[in-house]
Amino acid sequence: MKNKFKKVRVRFAPSPTGLFHVGSARTALFNFLFARKNRGEFILRIEDTDRERSKREYEEDIMRSLDWMGVSWDEGPYRQSERKEVYRKHLLRLIEEGKAYYCFCTKKQLEGAKEKQRKRKEPPRYEGKCFSLSNTKRERLIKEGKEFVVRLRIPEDENLEFNDRIKGKIKFNAKDIGGDFVIAKGDLSTLYNFVCAIDDHEMKITHVIRGEDHLSNTPKQILIQRALKFNAPEFAHMALTLGTDKSKLSKRHGAVSLGEYMEKGYLPEAFVNFIALLGWHPGGENEIYSLDEIIEKFSLDDCQKSGAIFDIRKLEYINGYYIRKMKTEKLANLCIPYLVSAGLLSTEFEEEQYPPAYGGVQPKLSYHIPASQEKVTFDKIVEIISLYQERMKLLSETKDLVDYFFLEEVDYEKNLLFWKGAGEEETKKNLEKCISVISSFKKWDKSLIEKTLLKKAGEGGDRGKMLWPLRVALSGKKASAGPFDIIWVLGREKTLKRLKTAINKLKMD
Ligand code: GLU
Repeated sequence: MKNKFKKVRVRFAPSPTGLFHVGSARTALFNFLFARKNRGEFILRIEDTDRERSKREYEEDIMRSLDWMGVSWDEGPYRQSERKEVYRKHLLRLIEEGKAYYCFCTKKQLEGAKEKQRKRKEPPRYEGKCFSLSNTKRERLIKEGKEFVVRLRIPEDENLEFNDRIKGKIKFNAKDIGGDFVIAKGDLSTLYNFVCAIDDHEMKITHVIRGEDHLSNTPKQILIQRALKFNAPEFAHMALTLGTDKSKLSKRHGAVSLGEYMEKGYLPEAFVNFIALLGWHPGGENEIYSLDEIIEKFSLDDCQKSGAIFDIRKLEYINGYYIRKMKTEKLANLCIPYLVSAGLLSTEFEEEQYPPAYGGVQPKLSYHIPASQEKVTFDKIVEIISLYQERMKLLSETKDLVDYFFLEEVDYEKNLLFWKGAGEEETKKNLEKCISVISSFKKWDKSLIEKTLLKKAGEGGDRGKMLWPLRVALSGKKASAGPFDIIWVLGREKTLKRLKTAINKLKMD
């Protein structure tokens, strides 16, 4: 049956030998998109045949990362380490049929043969020496405990051309792949290409979508599939992702593990949007797509043949976009953990609603500043975050942006208080004016605060002479939210206290 008529089944087949990275995230995402677009199935297969390097914690990291991205799988996780019997059965069948054979060549013999080929200026290949061993000799060598591997017998000259769904026609010939290759080790434990080809068949995979770094494995997998009389799946090899300088993508380009993106405060919707555009684009200028839109538009035909460029600034831009679009309450909830881990805020459940496990209402969290035990309402946190929603690019910026709202005192250099050309005396006088205006309000009203202070600042000509030290005294920062917003959030008491501290600072030498 032609693949066309079959239900699409794709797989993501990571090896759990390290933390989950951008490249794997993209492979997983493209498989997922293709499955969802074609109403097919997406299978998660853990390729943990390398027992020494495979770790459960990495497997958990893969699943946690996929969950975070919203990439859900329909089947699995299958683990290759739990499927050894399946591989062994196929291996023994190939040996029985004479399509695979035991090879006892030592390292030294193999090196020697390679050396001769080098001298003859031939590409290195295994010449099939052990293929012609007699049964009795083979039995004897096994009995003697001689080390061996199992090799697949491959044709001398066979066209292994295939039509890659992304790269187009790919030509390989059996004579170019280095001779009969090893498919299993001496304990009959099977190797990557062999188990991959078997699993793709057993799991009824219709399309293999993966990075082009696997392109050189494809002819070997096709040969294994042919030897076993399996139908080959279709292949789609995605161009590798490169750094902005066109070199191999690495940490210095900002490509880190997904756990690090989560910690830095990238939003999954922004990350998925960005990753989807690494090597795929539906056309047009738009760069912002929700997962549902991507699924709807996705097609392998729109995947680019050449390397996609990973530009971390674009990811930041997209993240900033999603932050701006988000409901501020939701954003505040996402920012709170960063404030808590910085020690600026504590949370606890309100007692009377706890515990929720017995059908009670969801417990409400209450917030306070750990140092002073002062309570902070959720609305206040929302108000603070709203001041930064427009400019925030990463959730992890929260602490450095808004810490001054939660600190008892702000710390800064006296010199920061001086507006261009303004002296100490003048600055002090302006801060005192602020104190008298702010103390005089009968009504605590945001627009009144703003109007009155602006007017007062205007009287001196250059408004900055008053507004700059006011803002610095309140925030302790070169850049912050505007002074009226800060006054409004801090309240009269804290505002006055900070202004007095600033004046004292000026008095000190
Ligand atoms: N296990 C391989 C890897 O992690 C993927 C194999 C494949 O997709 O065929 O690179």
